[in-house]
Amino acid sequence: MPPPVFRFAPSPNGYLHLGHAYSALLNADLARASGGRLLLRIEDIDRTRCRPQFEQAIYEDLFWLGVAWDGEVRRQSDHLELYRDAVTQLAARGLIYPAFESRAEIARLVAEKETVAPWPRDPDGAPHYPGIGKQLSAAQRAELIAAGVPYALRLDMTAAVELAGELNWQELGCGPAGEAGTIMARPEAWGDVIIARKETPTSYHLSVVIDDALQGVTEVVRGADLFWSTSVHRLLQHLLGLPAPVYRHHALLRDAEGRKLSKSTGSTGLRKLRAAGVTPAEIRTMVGLAAPV
Ligand code: GLU
Repeated sequence: MPPPVFRFAPSPNGYLHLGHAYSALLNADLARASGGRLLLRIEDIDRTRCRPQFEQAIYEDLFWLGVAWDGEVRRQSDHLELYRDAVTQLAARGLIYPAFESRAEIARLVAEKETVAPWPRDPDGAPHYPGIGKQLSAAQRAELIAAGVPYALRLDMTAAVELAGELNWQELGCGPAGEAGTIMARPEAWGDVIIARKETPTSYHLSVVIDDALQGVTEVVRGADLFWSTSVHRLLQHLLGLPAPVYRHHALLRDAEGRKLSKSTGSTGLRKLRAAGVTPAEIRTMVGLAAPV
């Protein structure tokens, strides 16, 4: 068996915190223990939120922590053409459609529907797409696109699930409710997810599956907040003919009030801790990892 391939895939939209340190160190430990490789990927497709100084800080913070990666860093914004090709493939099979409602319109439509009955929500709590994109004719779509109306390309989830049939994944860690082992994917729980936008030819879901496949990633180690996203990832892997890695979702670190750490949680930021004199060895202890052997 070839050695396993792990990856750490942060988004440069803020400074790394203890939660990232845990994920990066765990990936590095697992790679070392199995004689595998650890890759670093910068997930920077959201140009409105990503900043070069945050990317630079990722390299500095990982270096300080002692997390070394193999090979070249892959930056998603360098590969937009590749994602565009995958979108074209899905479109050619009639699996995606443009949806023209703005965020505000979507919120209004959901509120309207909820006056009658509860409207379905995805595992992150966001409402399913309530709009009429799927019903528009080819001529109506072409007209709106020509008029320059912004749009999101959404997956026709019903059609995609029908095509793919039952899918599952191997979970070596566990989900938010302790799910482990062979997990049945439930992509339909997400509704018609966004695959790309007019301005950005991809989305988190699409680029993550393409990059994991192209980089030969065999074991995805990441926070349990992404556990149910794996359903969408398995579906896209199936539709695009990409291999499925195994997954190891880990528990999220929480702050003293039990909230999930976020990039704005100043006191757990690695830079702040470093400036306060905390050592990388102490960081390992703080995130609950034993000293490396
Ligand atoms: N870029 C994502 C994040 O920073 C992680 C994606 C993943 O590991 O699949 O939360």
